[in-house]
Amino acid sequence: MELAKKFSETKPSGMVRVFQAIEKMNGVLNLSIGEPDFVTEPDIVDAGAKAAKDGFTHYPPLQGYLETREAVCAYWERHHGLKSSPDNVYISVGGLHIPWLAFGALLNPGDEVMLIEPYFTPYEAQIRGNGGVPVPIKTREENNFAPTVDELEQAVTPRTRGIILNYPGNPSGRVATRKQLEEIAKFVEKHDMFVLSDEIYESMVFKGQHTCFANIDGMKERTLLAAGVSKSHCMTGWRIGYLFAPQNVINTMCVLSSFQTYGVNTLSQMAAAYALNTQDEKVKERAKIFAERMEFVSSKLNSMKGVKCHQAEGAFYLFPDISGTGLTSEEFVWQLLNDAKVAVLPGSAFGRTGEGYIRIACTQSMDSLSEAMNRMKEFCRRY
Ligand code: PMP
Repeated sequence: MELAKKFSETKPSGMVRVFQAIEKMNGVLNLSIGEPDFVTEPDIVDAGAKAAKDGFTHYPPLQGYLETREAVCAYWERHHGLKSSPDNVYISVGGLHIPWLAFGALLNPGDEVMLIEPYFTPYEAQIRGNGGVPVPIKTREENNFAPTVDELEQAVTPRTRGIILNYPGNPSGRVATRKQLEEIAKFVEKHDMFVLSDEIYESMVFKGQHTCFANIDGMKERTLLAAGVSKSHCMTGWRIGYLFAPQNVINTMCVLSSFQTYGVNTLSQMAAAYALNTQDEKVKERAKIFAERMEFVSSKLNSMKGVKCHQAEGAFYLFPDISGTGLTSEEFVWQLLNDAKVAVLPGSAFGRTGEGYIRIACTQSMDSLSEAMNRMKEFCRRY
């Protein structure tokens, strides 16, 4: 069948190619996938099952159940001091659907959105898919992959509309400092921009503290704060994300979703409300486990020839510099996969700044991580 012209050139991303290759292999230690290895807590599952028995089997409200939106507000007030009304919260089909709807609501054809490298790959297609133009901003590891104001100023044009922030970052695992974010806040104010702040890894910050961008003076009205329960509550399969945003943006997103999904799975919404209200200790416990794993992997990486790795900062990702091996990111990843059966992702799949780096997800048990590090060390010895 003939595909639309816009898809005729579409190829799988650097990330998807690795995922597809692993499916056909046996014995691979998979450090490529960005989801917690823990299953959803049984009492959260029970809350979803109870909702089904209690008759939550009809179409949901487009914006999401009030109960779920209230739980989102209470969680963010408790953890980050964010004060918001449930009227300003939208419940989405996973965190991933938020940028799609938000850009649909905000972008005019040709509007430019700054994308800080290395960036979560889907953002780029989501900007383009809604008529916008992604403007990638190169960053440097010395500045923990946060852009300086000079780097941002150089990219401003009359079409600049917005910027995407993501801290702790996927793939970098880096946490922006409050000072860095305050400087970005002044910049967005000066150029009258919106900010999509993807804070989905807010519960996993091991260096410093999480700064909620909407809490910076003057930023609430400009910020779309996106997050979800996928990572914090190990609920990737339930597909629940959420957004805090100004009312007119939320209203338009509701209209757009009425053409696309007509709301979000009712049982998942009730399970997420329960999870957000009751699991703070579990969330903390798991964050500690991720931090320990990352510290272990980081120290092992630093003992490998040609590899330099930063300390754990946040999320569950490490983004070591492998340029000392003399291999490109892609060469390193494919040779490691074929020779040592360890799967990681090439940094170059996340924009130009990622060349010379790989992404390692510390989402496996200590035993698996230990075996993967032994195999990787042996691999690096050869370069
Ligand atoms: N934002 C970032 C930065 C992510 O890493 C992910 C998941 N990998 C998402 C959003 C989407 O999460 P979800 O599974 O809730 O759609």
